[in-house]
Amino acid sequence: MSLRIVVTVKYVPDATGDRHFADDLTVDRDDVDGLLSELDEYAVEQALQIAEDADDAEVTVLTVGPEDAKDALRKALSMGADKAIHVEDDDLHGTDALGTSLVLAKAIEKAGYDLVISGMASTDGTMGVVPALLAERLGVPQVTLLSEVSVEDGTVKGRRDGDAASEQLEAQLPAVVSVTDQSGEARYPSFKGIMAAKKKPVESWDLSDLEIEAEEVGLEGAYTTVDAAAERPARTAGTIVKDEGEGGKQLAEFLASQKFI
Ligand SMILES: Cc1cc2nc3c(=O)[nH]c(=O)nc-3n(C[C@H](O)[C@H](O)[C@H](O)COP(=O)(O)OP(=O)(O)OC[C@H]3O[C@@H](n4cnc5c(N)ncnc54)[C@H](O)[C@@H]3O)c2cc1C
Repeated sequence: MSLRIVVTVKYVPDATGDRHFADDLTVDRDDVDGLLSELDEYAVEQALQIAEDADDAEVTVLTVGPEDAKDALRKALSMGADKAIHVEDDDLHGTDALGTSLVLAKAIEKAGYDLVISGMASTDGTMGVVPALLAERLGVPQVTLLSEVSVEDGTVKGRRDGDAASEQLEAQLPAVVSVTDQSGEARYPSFKGIMAAKKKPVESWDLSDLEIEAEEVGLEGAYTTVDAAAERPARTAGTIVKDEGEGGKQLAEFLASQKFI
């Protein structure tokens, strides 16, 4: 039977652009270009490698995000994923991590899965909690933060590297795993891949397709509240030390004042 892999991929604001908050203290997503979260490229790569090693496998990429989030799906499809699911709904505005995990879990159940692969964290929220929340909601084991991952005989195996030790972990499928940026370089989409992606199926679902009530998500359903947000102060000009015989001393004094030495 085919191994069904679902990869959760997030469309995130480009970190090199200027980001702002809207009046309700949510991130102003209309104001900035977005892209597939770099850390989710590693998840797509691992899914593709597992699929290549399997006799029969299908890789579905899933995103919850605004209209433009289709760009993240296209990128993953051009890398080699087979199909995509886009969950979009106006009522998602202001959804927090718990709400996002609810939507993702319902979509994963509807799609059907044996293995879910997520990134270790998104590059914008960086909470690193969604894979664990997903496993809890789906009622399956979680094996997170893997630097190496493989599937054999209905078991997912992997290595988690810590400061003091490396652990070898495994779980029976179905399961949720997350992979780190050490899991292996993500491939670049080839020209052939980019052309093929245009013809791959992208399904669009809204909250009613997933039998989720609007009150369960959005700002209303959020368990977390943003009380205040402030723009990062503009960078000030650095201090230039001119060496007129005392340069070394001044440098040491500066480093000491910043508690570097
Ligand atoms: C339209 C919209 C509006 C939102 N508004 C707010 C808001 O106002 N306030 C707020 O706190 N949050 C909001 N969110 C949710 C927020 O952007 C995060 O998705 C959520 O809080 C998870 O946190 P994180 O990104 O830090 O997840 P992490 O736990 O760091 O993510 C780990 C992994 O989970 C997966 N993942 C996470 N999010 C998604 C996703 N959306 N789609 C697919 N895979 C995903 C990825 O594989 C990722 O690598 C909104 C989301 C959407 C879609």
